[in-house]
Amino acid sequence: TGLKKHFPLTSGVFRRTVGAVRAVEDVTLSIRKGETLALVGESGCGKSTTGRLLLRLIEASAGELMFDGQDIRTLDRRALRTLRRDMQIIFQDPFSSLNPRMRVCELIAEPLKFHQLARGRAEVEAEVDHLMNIVGLAPSHRDKFPHQFSGGQRQRIGIARALAVRPRFIVCDEPISALDVSIQAQVINLLAQLQQDFGLTYLFISHDLSVVRYVSDRVAVMYLGRIVELADTAALFEEPRHPYTAALLSSIPVPDPSLERKDRVILTGDVPSPSNPPSGCPFHPRCVHAQAICRQEVPALRTVARGSGRPGQVACHLAEDLDLQGIPTTEASA
Ligand code: SF4
Ligand code: MG
Repeated sequence: TGLKKHFPLTSGVFRRTVGAVRAVEDVTLSIRKGETLALVGESGCGKSTTGRLLLRLIEASAGELMFDGQDIRTLDRRALRTLRRDMQIIFQDPFSSLNPRMRVCELIAEPLKFHQLARGRAEVEAEVDHLMNIVGLAPSHRDKFPHQFSGGQRQRIGIARALAVRPRFIVCDEPISALDVSIQAQVINLLAQLQQDFGLTYLFISHDLSVVRYVSDRVAVMYLGRIVELADTAALFEEPRHPYTAALLSSIPVPDPSLERKDRVILTGDVPSPSNPPSGCPFHPRCVHAQAICRQEVPALRTVARGSGRPGQVACHLAEDLDLQGIPTTEASA
C-alpha cells in the first residue's frame, strides 16, 4: 500500500480512554523514517499521552500501532522487549527520570546490561565512555551523581541512556523546556547531530512553536486529544489552515518589533475539560470563525490544498474558506 512505501515506521489509528477522560481521541499518525515529526498543542491536549501510547508505555484501548509493518499491540512479552530497544523516550525533566543514588556510569550501564548489549566489566565501561563522548559528557565525570550536574548535562545523561540501546525511534517529550534558554540550543543541536549520525526518527513533543519550526520536518497540531492540522513545517507556518494553528502562530513572539503583528489572535477562554468535550468541533467555543455546523458536526481530518500547492491535513469545516494569517519565512528563521 501507499503507506508502506514511505513509512517504514508507522503508527496507525488508536484510541485511548482513561476512565471518563478521553485523553486521545482517534489519532492517526504516520511517522516517516528519519524525519522529525513535531506534536504541538497546549498542555493537557494529549501530546504526551500520544507519545506514550506509541511506545506502549500505556496501552491503547482501541486501534492499531504499526512499527515496521508489524502491529505492536499484538506482540508477546519477548518481542515487546526487543521493541523496547527500538523505541526510546527522552523526558522533559531529566532529573526526575534519573535515580539520584546511581552514578552516571551506572545510569548509562543499566540499559546496556538490561538488554545484554555489553558483557563483562571492561566492555560495559568502554561503551559507557563511548556514549558519554557521543553526548558531550567528559568520561572523567563517570563517578558523579545526577545532582552534581547541570540541567543540560542531566539531559545529556538521559540522551545517553536512550541511545545506549541503539534505538531507531525516539519520542522527545518536551526535551528542552525545563532547561535554561542558553542551554536549549546546545541540546537541540545534539539531538540533530545524533539524528544524522544514527539515522534516528523523532517524535518531538513541544508547546514551543519557535523551537518546533527550527527542528521539525512536519508538524501535527493537537487540540483536546485530536489532531487538527498536519503539514510540512514551512507550509504550516506560512499557510495555517486551522484557526487553532493560526492562533498558536500569532502568539509566537517576534524578535523584530517592526514585524509585530497587528492582527494577533488572542486565544480566549479556557481549554474545555477533556472529560466533557464540546459537541461538534472541539475548538468551537474558542473559535472566532465558528458557524452553526461547527457546533453539530465533528470535522474530519482531511486533505486540504494550500495556495502554494503544498497539501496538508486539516480538521475544520471551513478550511477552504478562511483566510488565516501565517508567518512568512524570513532569512532569520529559515
Ligand atoms: Fe472553527 Fe468551525 Fe473550523 Fe472548528 S470547524 S475550527 S469551530 S471554523
Ligand atoms: Mg506533556
